[in-house]
Amino acid sequence: MIDSNTLKEQIELVDKYISFYEQDFMGAEKYLKRYWEKSDYIHLLLGPTMYKEYPNFVINANAASIDYNMTQLLDNNKFVSDYCAAVHNYTATADLDAETEKQIECLLLDFIEVDSLIANTSKAKDDICINGIDIQIKEGMKIMRALRKVSEALGLDMEEFESFRREHAKVLSTKTLRGTLCLSALPMDYLTLSDNNSNWISCYSWRKNGLYHASTLAYISAPNTIVAYLKDEKKNYDWDGEGDWNSKMWRQLIYIDPDFIIPGRAYPYDSEQLTEKVVTCLNELLNNNNINVPYTKIETDIIESTADRSVTKVTNECPVSLIISNSNGYNDFYGKLIYWINAQQQYSRYENIIFDGIVHCLKCGDVINPGEVGKNVDGVTLRVCTKCRAPKLCPYCGGVINPSEFTIADEEGQEYHVDCWQEKEVAEGWLEDGDE
Ligand SMILES: [Zn+2]
Ligand SMILES: [Zn+2]
Repeated sequence: MIDSNTLKEQIELVDKYISFYEQDFMGAEKYLKRYWEKSDYIHLLLGPTMYKEYPNFVINANAASIDYNMTQLLDNNKFVSDYCAAVHNYTATADLDAETEKQIECLLLDFIEVDSLIANTSKAKDDICINGIDIQIKEGMKIMRALRKVSEALGLDMEEFESFRREHAKVLSTKTLRGTLCLSALPMDYLTLSDNNSNWISCYSWRKNGLYHASTLAYISAPNTIVAYLKDEKKNYDWDGEGDWNSKMWRQLIYIDPDFIIPGRAYPYDSEQLTEKVVTCLNELLNNNNINVPYTKIETDIIESTADRSVTKVTNECPVSLIISNSNGYNDFYGKLIYWINAQQQYSRYENIIFDGIVHCLKCGDVINPGEVGKNVDGVTLRVCTKCRAPKLCPYCGGVINPSEFTIADEEGQEYHVDCWQEKEVAEGWLEDGDE
């Protein structure tokens, strides 16, 4: 049973959220009652609130997260683009032979590469002269020292350099991640899988009209899939000023049943540490219910990945190969997969894991076929079925009824142009001509 306050809150928020993007929405009460479906196992794990959280959660940042933050810093940074332009301009106009030109360009542009900025020291050494200023680059020299000298010689705005230097130091100092770790099967968490205040998105984003944002609906109805995420403790995600929800700094969809725990790809970066922590929390929740499953970690390759499913390899450690069906989601199972199996279970050679659920039309509830989810029609991904999107035709004249037009409906609900309805009544003898 879902706690009644939780249900009430979710209905209210989902109404605000979906109606903001889709005016034809049937309403959250109807939609969630019909299509929000979780297995007994998930109900047991997360309890009536369908949500567990672990505040003040601290974890050492891994290489991937620092890499991600550094890449974010370089993206659209004014100093960086000015610097690149100045370097190109300098090498193009200075009187240099082709080889020297290339060498200097490589040296100078290397200072703003992600790897160099993370290493924080210069790999190269060289004596260069820019605009009459001699600069000595030593191996092991701090990147920001070298970059300051070069930027000064190139005549760049040094205030912009300073703010870039401060941001760079900030990224290097994020050696630990802090937040609240959450495990959730709440509709708002599926809808905001890739919408947040933490500066990252994916094709699941509603706000950016991501091509696969209708896929978020498939996870609301996925019986065994939950969302694990790191919530920003300081700020919420506020999509329109009228409603807000937890902002995800990091998230991962997790499939769990008594035989398997299968984590999906994490966004915006993979973190084995976080995934393992999530699995530990899940095991603890099971233990609280006196359930002990000997989940055992397996590391394997995905040998086949198509739009609707992926297949893993059988290994010595793992007697089973998984067929992970994810036809309504964006299938991002590729490369390596770390997952857990119940070591006591006997498996058949292939096990089918249904990672996602069904996408239902937001207006009429009909099933939207997998091939259609993610299809871009008139710039809108299909979250309303083709039938509901088709133009309404007047049965009397055969013409299109404008969506904003007033209509008259007959007993079967067929809609007519107002003029056509009157003509029809006259023609059928219900109304005298001119009698209105
Ligand atoms: Zn429909
Ligand atoms: Zn008509």
